[in-house]
Amino acid sequence: MSVILTGDRPTGQLHIGHYVGSLRRRVELQNAGTADKIFVMIADAQAITDNAYNLEKVRTNILQVMLDYLACGLDPAKSVMFIQSQIPQLCELTFYYMNLVTVARLQRNPTVKSEIQQRAFHGGVPVGFFTYPISQAADITAFSADIVPVGADQLPVLEQTREIVRAFNSLYGETLVEPQALLPENEVCARLPGLDGGAKMSKSLGNCIYLADSADEIKTKVQSMFTDPTHLRVSDPGHTENNPVFIYLSAFCRDEHFKAFLPAYQNLDELKAHYEKGGLGDGVVKKFLNEILQHELQPIRERRQQWEKDLPAVRDILQKGSQTAYQEADKVLHKVRQAMRLNYFDDPSWCQ
Ligand code: ATP
Ligand code: MG
Repeated sequence: MSVILTGDRPTGQLHIGHYVGSLRRRVELQNAGTADKIFVMIADAQAITDNAYNLEKVRTNILQVMLDYLACGLDPAKSVMFIQSQIPQLCELTFYYMNLVTVARLQRNPTVKSEIQQRAFHGGVPVGFFTYPISQAADITAFSADIVPVGADQLPVLEQTREIVRAFNSLYGETLVEPQALLPENEVCARLPGLDGGAKMSKSLGNCIYLADSADEIKTKVQSMFTDPTHLRVSDPGHTENNPVFIYLSAFCRDEHFKAFLPAYQNLDELKAHYEKGGLGDGVVKKFLNEILQHELQPIRERRQQWEKDLPAVRDILQKGSQTAYQEADKVLHKVRQAMRLNYFDDPSWCQ
């Protein structure tokens, strides 16, 4: 039995990278019923670390992310969905954990490094952004989570949490739970590339197929995707590695999709072999990918449209979830204060 915690930054709507990297797994774990508790956090405070001058973006996207959660099948009866900033205990934990991490260690963190590069902050990197792995340690430990389903980009950040937990426990006594990352089994899903085939699909880079995209938007985006630049004529041999269309196919397609949409092939290996040999056009492969994405995303989009009609219900779920999360985090904060002996007024031995 275990406690699961995951989350997303409300910096935009969720995309198919989030879906295959983490969301799909969360819903499976939720429905398997094997976890003791599941917490899903909308990380608005973390989103502020690089959006302090654009709070409205964060505010509006909280509801967008929540709609995406409900659309994908996260269920408030089984998973606690909450908003990070409503849990002030997380700030206090962060404040204490800051003393267990050096500036040099954060500077070496590959996720922090690449995200700073990606963002090109004008006027310097905000301290809050630089230290976000520490607040992420607070998010995870506040719920005693032992499993954190994430994409590959978050591995160094999770390692930072594990180091903080070990440092805390060895200094102040066994208090915090050390978490494990849970990556998707399919390597391709752990870091889905963007439509441009370059960097990972990311809200901040605008290279996404969003879960809320209309059927037409999905089709247009698939048609505009990069493929193999050396595959100029249909008869040319093609490359499937580093070819985003084939990468998306390995993230989404199952053998039954061939029966339904491309019966000339049995499975992805056959399709790949034909492409690599030559004689298979990009148009056919893109059409197939489009059919699959339409099939997978249509029910998600329809559920989203249903929830969009009842935003007060969405708000209530978040409010109740935030209350539950507050109580859980408070229990852990209490333990942390005890372990650090900050409980001066409850401790008669303090001024004897
Ligand atoms: P931002 O650009 O604002 O950081 P993002 O698209 O990177 O947004 P996050 O909210 O930072 O999304 O990430 C939420 C979760 O989704 C994390 O577990 C992250 O590892 C995972 N994730 C994000 N992008 C991808 C991707 N392209 N492929 C697989 N997993 C991803
Ligand atoms: Mg991110």
